[in-house]
Amino acid sequence: MQTKKIHVKRGDIVFVTTGKDRNKTGKLLKVDAGKNGVIVEGVNVVKRHNRARGNQPGGIVEKEALVHLSNVMLFCAKCQKPVRAKISVLEDGKKVRLCKKCGESFDN
Ligand SMILES: [Zn+2]
Repeated sequence: MQTKKIHVKRGDIVFVTTGKDRNKTGKLLKVDAGKNGVIVEGVNVVKRHNRARGNQPGGIVEKEALVHLSNVMLFCAKCQKPVRAKISVLEDGKKVRLCKKCGESFDN
């Protein structure tokens, strides 16, 4: 089985390139590898109408929906723009992602 290469992970600040929230940045909350999607804080928020159940009141709940992996890029705080990362392997074999432009590490 082939391991899917995912360029982002939880805790990253990502830039959204398309959709109603394009050009927004947000913190990546969750990666759903099976669906090739990510949940980004404050991005692609959808309203869910919940029906009252038992003693739980119904109402409108706002929740982030999946954004496709191909629609997010890593955001470099140093460059202040979305960038591509390059993978660098450290002496101990650990892989880190570095900003292609300024060399800043995304994996501190
Ligand atoms: Zn950079």
